[in-house]
Amino acid sequence: MSEKKKVCMVCGKPSEVSICDVCKAQIQGEAIDKKQKIEREVRIGPEVEKEKKKQKR
Ligand SMILES: [Zn+2]
Repeated sequence: MSEKKKVCMVCGKPSEVSICDVCKAQIQGEAIDKKQKIEREVRIGPEVEKEKKKQKR
């Protein structure tokens, strides 16, 4: 039992690397989605600051 089968740790399909190209692309796509979400939150940030200033007055 010395033979170790290499499989993708994401989908479990036989792969020479720990994460196959398909899953890698999916993970990178998700990462981009998350980045875009963060950028949206940052854009909302200044508006929230304005609201805070309004409440102070
Ligand atoms: Zn995979």
